[in-house]
Amino acid sequence: MAVVIQTLRPHHLLDILAGLKASDMAGPAPECRPGENGVRTITHALAANLDTPVKFVVGPDDICRPCDKLRPDLTCSRFLPNREPPVAFDDYNNPLDRAILKKLGMRPDQVLPLREFLTRVRGNCPGLERVCAHAHQDAAQKLSGILQGLEVLGITRGGGMPVPAAPT
Ligand code: SF4
Repeated sequence: MAVVIQTLRPHHLLDILAGLKASDMAGPAPECRPGENGVRTITHALAANLDTPVKFVVGPDDICRPCDKLRPDLTCSRFLPNREPPVAFDDYNNPLDRAILKKLGMRPDQVLPLREFLTRVRGNCPGLERVCAHAHQDAAQKLSGILQGLEVLGITRGGGMPVPAAPT
């Protein structure tokens, strides 16, 4: 059955874009192995979901849902490597996702067609890579990967009216 994308963490989508190849979306949908996160499944479904309304969340998404690191209380059990004191994934990723949404003129839980989100991403490149690159990543490389991923999906022009972020 075709996968319908419902929720995405913005940084998950940007990470996928930065390494996206057309072949990732070819052929039959991959089976999600027990405990595996949904990256391969969601990546495969991107091109088919460009006009799907997606909720952009700060919290668990369609990629986290099958992951065996997601606790029953919907927090992630993982910690960033090599940090002392330890830093929980959520404590790093939640502010990151809020910052990406703010840069795109969006608020948490806002619903947009995937194509419109990607168009906003294109309109904020260059610049967005400085918000979304992880500490160990080269921001210029991340930008180049995101632009290539957008091209693979046919998003070649930025635009879209920014929606003011709601007060928090
Ligand atoms: S490790 Fe954590 S953040 Fe990553 S997919 Fe699994 S539950 Fe989500």
